Parts: sequence; structure tokens; C-alpha cells
Amino acid sequence: MFPDDDHIDDHLREECGVFGVFGCLAASKLCFLGLYALQHRGQEGAGIVSSDRSTFYVVRDEGLVSDVFNPENLAYLKGDSAIGHVRYSTTGSNNVNNIQPLYAKTSFGKLAVAHNGNLTNAYSIYSKLKTQGALFQSTIDSEVVLHMVSRSTETSFLKALQTSLSQIDGAFSMVFLCEDKLVAARDTFGFRPLVLGRLGKGFVVASETCALDLIGATYEREIEPGEIVIITAAEGVQSYKIPRQSRRAFCVFEHVYFSRADSVVFGDSVHLVRKEFGKVLAKEYPVEADLVMSIPDSGNSAALGYAEASGIPYEIGMTRNQYVGRTFIQPQQQIRDLGVKIKLNPITSVLKGKRVIVIDDSLVRGTTSKQRVSAIRKAGAKEIHMLISSPPITDPCHFGIDTPHRDKLIAAQKSIEEIRKHIGADSLGYLSIEGMLSAVKTHLPEHFCTGCFTGNYPLKVRNKGKHSFEGEKIKLYGKKN
Ligand code: AMP
Repeated sequence: MFPDDDHIDDHLREECGVFGVFGCLAASKLCFLGLYALQHRGQEGAGIVSSDRSTFYVVRDEGLVSDVFNPENLAYLKGDSAIGHVRYSTTGSNNVNNIQPLYAKTSFGKLAVAHNGNLTNAYSIYSKLKTQGALFQSTIDSEVVLHMVSRSTETSFLKALQTSLSQIDGAFSMVFLCEDKLVAARDTFGFRPLVLGRLGKGFVVASETCALDLIGATYEREIEPGEIVIITAAEGVQSYKIPRQSRRAFCVFEHVYFSRADSVVFGDSVHLVRKEFGKVLAKEYPVEADLVMSIPDSGNSAALGYAEASGIPYEIGMTRNQYVGRTFIQPQQQIRDLGVKIKLNPITSVLKGKRVIVIDDSLVRGTTSKQRVSAIRKAGAKEIHMLISSPPITDPCHFGIDTPHRDKLIAAQKSIEEIRKHIGADSLGYLSIEGMLSAVKTHLPEHFCTGCFTGNYPLKVRNKGKHSFEGEKIKLYGKKN
């Protein structure tokens, strides 16, 4: 996402989920279901572009997947291939033109793209393309790829894509739709997940395996870091490389918070990794208590692990109203505060007079945690030991997770003792970085990006700390933009 005049910040964040289906009847309905399973990755807008091999059909709007799509517009989305996107972006960047998939008529034919991640050099590319006469329709970083491909002097689409993708920095798990093919590409670091599945004779690509499960597709494999997969009717799956070398940098925060517990991400079960976080936490922070509870749902798996390793009984100390969206994800503070109260309710009869270990996956601003600790205290808990199944978040993410600027990150501003006081807990402990990385089995610790916990980013963020698009917005009457 590019900064716009409402959003002058040192970087922009966008959390997203992508899905693609090729060679399946009712492709758009499958895509709808896939996006439904990926709803946790973005709740502000959703879109699908489908193709019947000649025409592209587009539905995009603000809101949840269930708000955007209905039987009528799904029937309009014809064809046996489709790509879709769910997105969340920070305040100021709510612009209907920014809802993905983006699409264009390019020199290689019609092309649509759905992107998860942040491109860290998109602003320089955008500025250059604009001086060369490119006409931008959105303010999102992903659009540069459409321009780069279309303007490429390479003779084939594959070469144009390879050259373009090798020039962009940062995080991308992308799904492209062409008239006759589906393409999936992942940056060489592998920041964001992207998996390939099969459904009958057709193929499916998704941010997470939970989307494959929902539509009954079988998991084949991950799209590898630096891989471009091209799927056609004639040749099935063909694999190519982005001509660029880099280290691996899988986002560990996908395991901590972002992915769904029932997904397999970077080769590991998210639930089991979180459970292991809890087990390691029990070793690192043994506490005498009567029960272990989680902040539902994000702390569930780790709390189970802690209880199992410590022998302290697991209890349900709070219930969640399933019908309220994620509060943190609401851009305005006022709405966020209100949401916290609606969402979770402590169970007084469980908590009264008890010494309680409360497990949550992460502490970001400290706002909701403070309210939760206070609610548990009001319900009569005698002692509250807050344990976090990840290390202190001290730095923003530049690669696609919405962590705020350092001045809003409580662990960048306060010591652990000060945070404990702020949230009102009797004790506070965080999982260590080594402990966190020891829980992930398939890949080596050095293959993860831990930037939000360490400030060590796997690549230099070039466009940091400057630009705004002040005055560049075009406002349409009757549209929120
Ligand atoms: P706070 O106490 O305000 O720092 O909020 C902590 C809560 O935010 C935890 O329960 C996390 O599960 C949740 N959280 C962490 N990262 C994110 C994110 N990127 N989007 C939404 N919620 C998040």
C-alpha cells in the first residue's frame, strides 16, 4: 500500500488473504468459500475476478466476504477459473479502487492480481513509472506489478513476470489470473505463506491450507520461496524461478497470531506450534497457580500447551461472543474499545478467589490486555499472571502484518515491569526468541523473519520514513475513497 494524504507514516501495512482456482466448475463459488475460510486475514474488503477464458468478470466491495457476495453476483462471476482477495488496511487507505484483485488489459492480454504482503520499494517504482506516463488507478503497491509486466520489453509473459518480480523488494504471495492460465508467485524470502492444492482435475492456490480444507481440495505442497507456478489446461502445473537469490525469512508471526490454528503453515501445524510455544513458556515461566486459561481464541493452543507441561488444570475463564469481528482490526480507537467489551466475558464462578495464569499470543499496544486483566480481576481472581506466548513486540512489520509504529508498541516504550503495572497483572512473562523458534519444527530458526521482535529485518527497507501522496487522491462522488 502506498501512503496517501490521510496516512503519512513511515510504512504502510496491509494484511490480506489470497485464493485462486483453475479448471473447476463453479470456480467463483469455490473462490467465495476459500475467501470465507481466509476471512481472518482481512475484513475490510473482498473481491473475486473470474474468467471463462475470454471475458473477465469482477465483483469487489468493502466489507466481509458474506457482505460482498450473494447468489446473484456469484452467478455473474462466470468461468472455470477465478482469483480472490480479502484485505485489511489501516485508516485512510479505505478506497474502493484499492480493493483487490486489481485487473488491467496489458500487452500480454487481460491480467488480474491478488497480493498478500508489502512491497518495500514500490514507491520508487511507482514514481519512476508515473514519470514515464503510467496511469495508476489505485494507491496500492501491488499495482506496480501490472504496469511493469505490461511495459516489459520481454517477448513472453513468463519472462516479463520473472523480470518484474525480480525487481520488486519485500513480501509477496501473489495469485495472477490470465485469460488461459492461473499463476502463483512467492518472493524469494517466503515471508507470507502460499500453498498449492488439487480439486478433482482442477488446481487451487491459497494463503492457508484451511481454505483448501473447506472446499475439499487436497494439499499438494507449498509454493516455494522464489517460485512462479504457471497452471494451464494443456500442461498442468509448471514451475519456474524468480531470478534472484536471498535468504529464507518466513514470518514467525503467522504462527504466533495471524494464521488460523487449523492451517499448516511453512510445513508446520499452526495449532501444534502454538501448543509448543505454551510448553516452552511453562519451562521458561513456571508459576504456582490454580488454573491456566486463555484469552480466546488467540491464546487457546498455547494455554493448552502450558497446562499440559505444567500439570496445572486448563479452564475456560472467559467466553467469546463469536458474532463480533476482531476488535483490534477496527481502525478507530473508539470502536476498538467498545469492541473489547462486547467480545469477551469472564466466567465469575470459575475465577472467583483463584490464582490464574492467563495466556495470550501477543501484546501489541497493551490496550485490550489492560481491559481483559481488569475484567478478570473484577470477576474475583485473586492473582493474575499474564504470560505471552511470543517475545515483546518492539518494532513494526514492513512485510504485511499490521503492527503499529514504535511509539504505539508498548514493549518499545516501556520495560516489562512497567508493562505489568500498566496492564494491572501480578506478574508478566514473555516467551523468549529462542524458545519461540525452538517450537517450529520444519525450518531452521535462521530461516524465519523475527523483525517485529528484534528490529533485524532480512532486507533493507528503502522507502522508510518519508513520502506522502498529498494532493494525489482523486475523489469520486458517492464513493468512499
Ligand atoms: P493489546 O493488548 O492492545 O496489545 O492487544 C493484544 C491482542 O491483539 C492480542 O490478543 C492479540 O491476539 C491481538 N493481535 C496481535 N496482533 C494483531 C494483529 N496484527 N491484528 C489484530 N489483532 C492482533
